Amino acid sequence: MIKRISILALVFTVLLSCKTQEKKEVDQTSNDENKLEQTIYFGGDIITMDGATPQYVEAVIERDGKIIYAGDKASAVNNFAGETVEVDLKGKTMLPGFVDPHGHFMSAVLMSTQVNCASPPMGTVTDIPSMIEKLQKFKEEKGIKDGEWIVGWGYDQDLLAEKRHITKLDLDEAFPNNKILIVHISMHGGVLNSKALEWAGLDENSETPEGGVIARLPGGNEPAGLLMEMAYMPVFDKLPQPSEDEMMELMEAAQMQYTSNGYTHAVEGFTHIKDMNTLKRAAKEGRFFIDIVSLPGFTEMKEWLNNPEYPFGEYNDRLKFQGGKFTLDGSPQGLTAYMAEPYSVPGPNGEKNWVGNTSIPREDLAKLAKVMVDNNVQIMFHANGDGAIEDAIYAIENAGIKASDDKRPIIIHSQFQKPEHLKKYVEIGISPTYFTNHAFYWGDVHIRNVGLEKASFISPMKAANDLGLITSNHTDFNVTLLDPFFVMWTSMKRETRSGKILGGDQVIDGYAALQSLTTGSAYQFFEEDSKGKIKKGMLADFVILDTNPLKISTVDAIKDIKVLETIKEGKTVFKK
Ligand SMILES: [Zn+2]
Repeated sequence: MIKRISILALVFTVLLSCKTQEKKEVDQTSNDENKLEQTIYFGGDIITMDGATPQYVEAVIERDGKIIYAGDKASAVNNFAGETVEVDLKGKTMLPGFVDPHGHFMSAVLMSTQVNCASPPMGTVTDIPSMIEKLQKFKEEKGIKDGEWIVGWGYDQDLLAEKRHITKLDLDEAFPNNKILIVHISMHGGVLNSKALEWAGLDENSETPEGGVIARLPGGNEPAGLLMEMAYMPVFDKLPQPSEDEMMELMEAAQMQYTSNGYTHAVEGFTHIKDMNTLKRAAKEGRFFIDIVSLPGFTEMKEWLNNPEYPFGEYNDRLKFQGGKFTLDGSPQGLTAYMAEPYSVPGPNGEKNWVGNTSIPREDLAKLAKVMVDNNVQIMFHANGDGAIEDAIYAIENAGIKASDDKRPIIIHSQFQKPEHLKKYVEIGISPTYFTNHAFYWGDVHIRNVGLEKASFISPMKAANDLGLITSNHTDFNVTLLDPFFVMWTSMKRETRSGKILGGDQVIDGYAALQSLTTGSAYQFFEEDSKGKIKKGMLADFVILDTNPLKISTVDAIKDIKVLETIKEGKTVFKK
C-alpha cells in the first residue's frame, strides 16, 4: 500500500523516529517485511555519481537506512514492500551526502568556545584593532574574569590591513590581566600576549626548539608573541580545555556545522588519545548522527597501536578510527611547508635560503610508517611542500607498499608536488586529497613565496585525474570554510583573491569536482561500497540542493548553491 504524504509529514516521521525505531525492531524479529517503513524520492534531478560521466535516476527508495532501489519510477513500484513515504523533490537536486576527505572535527567542537578572528569570507576581522574589539566584546559577553583565558582562531597576517603578524605588544594594552592566544589560520602556530607567554614559561632565555619558530622583538631575544610548529605544539597541548561533560554538550552543534553544509561524514584529522577517548564517549552515548572518522596522531602511536580499546577500520556507534596520521610540515603561506628548493623570500626570521620546517626526520618517519603498515594500519601524511611530499613517498616505498597491495596511503594536501611525483603516486598507489581552496585564500601569497610557475601547479587535480588517480578535495576545516560549493568553485576556477587564475590548465569540470567530495573521499577511507553513490545497497545518505551543480550557467554560480536538506541513513539531519 502506498501512502501519499508530503515532505512535511516526513519531518513529522523523523520527529517520531525513536518510536519508529522501536517498531522496526519488533517488525524485524517478526520477519514481516511488509511492515517496514520506506521512503521514495522522485521528481527532481537525482545524480547517482555512479560512473565516469553524470548518470541520473528517476527514483530512489530507502528502507532501514539503505538504498534498496535506484532506477526509473515506473519499475520502482515493484520494489515497494510496505508503507511508503513519498518525497517529491519538486525540481530540486539530490546527490549522495558529501563525504569530508579531511578536516578537524574537534576544532568544530571547540570553535563555539572561541572567538572568530578570521578575515572575510570566514570572518569579519580586517585589521588588528577590529580583532581586539572582537576579543573585548567576547570577554564582556561571556563574563570572562581576570586571569582567565581568551582564545581566538583563524587570524591570517596576510589579510590584515597591517600585513604583519600580531605581537604581544598589540594585545597587552587591551588585555593586561587575561591570557590571550590567537591561533593562526594554519593551526600550526599562534600569538600569545605577555600573560600567556609567562604562563608558558617563555622569555628571552628560552631557546628555539628544533623544527620550531619563536618570533623575537627587534633588536633582542625577547619573544614577540608568535610561536610556530614545534615551539607552538607543546603550548597548545597544555591549554586548558572544556571539561568532557561540556564537550559532550557541544557535539550536536559541531555536527550541525557539517550537516548544514551537506556533509554526512566528518573527519577528525589528527586525534590525540585524550580526544579519541572523548569521541568514544560521545559515540557510546549515542551523540553522533553523522559518521566521524578519526585519524590518531603518530606522536601517541604506542598508546593506540594494537590496543583493543581503539579498534581500527570499523564503525562503532558512528565512530571509526582509520589511518595513522603523520604531520610532516607546516603551511606554505606561513613559510613552514618543507620545500625541496628554497622559497623566493626569506624565512619568518629573515633566514636566507629558507626551505621551511620538517617535523620528523626522514628515517624516523620511515621507521614509524613501516610499523603502522606492518600492523595493517592505513598511513596518512600531511605534506604541503615538495620536500615533505618526497619524505612521504620515501616512507611509503620503504614500507614496501605497491599499487597492487591496495593499501591506499593518503597524502593530505599534496599541494606543492612536482609533476614527476604524480607518476610515483600511480606506481605505488598513493591517493592525494587536494586543497584547491588555497588558490583563492593564499594564491597571491604563494606566487610571492614560491614564484608563479610552482604556485600554478598547486593541487594539480586535472593532472592527477588524467593519470587515473582517485582524488578528493577538502576544506581542512577550520582552516577554510566548510562549504562544499566553495571547494567546487576553487577547483573549477582556481581564482586568487586578486582575481588571477592560478594554473588554468588544472581546472576540473563540475562532475570531477563532485567526485572529489563523494566517490573520491569514500574510496580514501575504504568506504566506496557504502558511501559516495546513489545505488542499490549503499547507505541512504543524501543531500538535497536548490540547484543542480552540473546545470549552472557560469562557474561562479556554483558558490550560490544552497543545501536544503541533509539525510543520513534515511533520517533528516538538517533542513533549511
Ligand atoms: Zn589538517
